[in-house]
Amino acid sequence: MRGKMTIKILNSQVIARIAAGEVVERPAAAVKELVENSLDAGATVIAIEAKGGGIGLIRVIDNGQGIPPGQLELAFHRHATSKIISEADLESISTLGFRGEALPSIAAVAEVELVSCSNGDATGHYITLNDGQVTRHGIQGRPQGTTVTVRHLFRSFPARLKFLRSPATENSHLAVVVSQYALAYPEVKFNLAVDEKNIFSSPGTGNLRDAVLAVHGLETARNMLEIERDERWRDHAADRNITISGLIGTPQIARSSRDYLSFFVNRRWISSRLLARAVADAYHGLLPVGRHPVVVINIELPAREVDVNIHPAKSEVKFRDEHAVFGAVQKAVRGTLLSAAPVPTIQQTAGNYTALTRHAPVPTSTSSSPARIPATPLPVFAEIISPEKAAPLLRNALPALRPVGQIAATYIVAEGPDGLYLIDQHAAHERILFEKVQRQQNGRGIEVQGLLEPVVFEVTPRQDALLKLPGKDGAEALTVILTDFGITLEPFGKMTYLLRASPAGFDSKQAITALRESLDTPAGATDWREKIAQSLACHGAVRAGQALDGDELRQLIRELEQTSNPHTCPHGRPTILHLGLSQLEKEFKRT
Ligand code: ADP
Ligand code: MG
Repeated sequence: MRGKMTIKILNSQVIARIAAGEVVERPAAAVKELVENSLDAGATVIAIEAKGGGIGLIRVIDNGQGIPPGQLELAFHRHATSKIISEADLESISTLGFRGEALPSIAAVAEVELVSCSNGDATGHYITLNDGQVTRHGIQGRPQGTTVTVRHLFRSFPARLKFLRSPATENSHLAVVVSQYALAYPEVKFNLAVDEKNIFSSPGTGNLRDAVLAVHGLETARNMLEIERDERWRDHAADRNITISGLIGTPQIARSSRDYLSFFVNRRWISSRLLARAVADAYHGLLPVGRHPVVVINIELPAREVDVNIHPAKSEVKFRDEHAVFGAVQKAVRGTLLSAAPVPTIQQTAGNYTALTRHAPVPTSTSSSPARIPATPLPVFAEIISPEKAAPLLRNALPALRPVGQIAATYIVAEGPDGLYLIDQHAAHERILFEKVQRQQNGRGIEVQGLLEPVVFEVTPRQDALLKLPGKDGAEALTVILTDFGITLEPFGKMTYLLRASPAGFDSKQAITALRESLDTPAGATDWREKIAQSLACHGAVRAGQALDGDELRQLIRELEQTSNPHTCPHGRPTILHLGLSQLEKEFKRT
């Protein structure tokens, strides 16, 4: 005991610190609050910069309505907000912010500068604060909008600083925040620069599929189904005016983590076990165990049906009728999947998962005759398939093809039931290896070759940091994931490793190149398993310019036919082009 206990009221700075800790848990939380403010201000362009994992600097620049000069200081007062007035307003919140806590919280634990030019004003004004105290203010030119710069976050708060992860991890958290808001607001143009490199931008077209393309890439964007609004799966008695919209991934593009579920309630990004369960339910039977879909789901419902005021960071909500929301999401997703004919179901055959259609037997390369194969449109020469057109192709069977030869040791010429087909040998082989590697690591059945001579290789500091990152929050450490792929590493001194084993079919050089490439993925929502499979496929595949003999051509075509998505390489480039007989006839003026 330290003598007699006395109760004292904390001074306001300590109070501010404690409160700030709840709102601004880490740099990504500050980014989230600032971006939400920009969105509430009606911004259509939002640029975000981060340095040093967000500790060095965070800057959010918007073109929203701005803050009138007389109110700059007020904006930093605790519980000062322009968004609600009365208690009754809490019942129907339509803005992302409402607690009036973000700016004061950030200012309590950092150096902040805010420059704003309000709608219709001739010039802008700035204010700077240091650990919550105003240090300077005045006039500064700026077009309409607001820029908030946050420096040295948590510098005077070592307890918090200690809990932060490496800059790379903090960067990836804040990249997730930005990409999720890009999905929630497809009409807003987002740009994220980390350490002065642009790592993400969304086009702001207002089209959700374009936003998905920016966030998740071409192959995913192509394979997303639009949630259908259909009376058949609405339950009017229960639905309380709930509207579900968005895009959901076909089973083909399922991932090995749950990080690809995005939920927005009245355009607020939230995490929700309830909704995750509703989606899992809807995909039941369509995905192998351990795979999770990619979904972007917007839930709109009357503001009074949802309480957003249950969490200081506003990242969770409480629905008045959870049952109704669960049902609405489950039915809309399930209904969309089932009506996207043909419906794929998963059947396990000899340890491999094969997508089967409910309506037609799956064509295999040996039993397929051209007549039985559903005609799947291939891109015609020079025509790149658009995401809209490709999306419904759940089962992309290729027709039976006969190799004719090779052009420029790069393209395979083949004859099919309807004319001429050209295959990019590298892209096709990438697709084959990608699926093979993924299948094997899913079943943990990868073949490994131990190396007689372990190979020593060096990595960059960033690569080293990633390899040393322990798995957390239930995620696996990268080195464990690598072992699943047959890549066994051992630390070997400063920024140096030993490669002890590589996956069968890949030499040590290919394995190391693929590993380095995976590690160099820009920070962001990374599905390591997918990235590693992609890199291995890319570096293991035959190159353009490599001559192939007849047997090799035949085998490559046969294996391509057996892939579940033969039309594109894992990066989304086409693997095959088609010149139809009718087009040949037309070109040769036979008709
Ligand atoms: P809240 O968003 O909960 O109202 P904040 O502390 O985040 O609280 O912001 C306080 C106020 O400052 C907001 O209500 C808004 O009026 C103003 N503000 C903050 N950021 C911006 C911005 N980027 N553009 C316009 N106004 C802003
Ligand atoms: Mg706010």
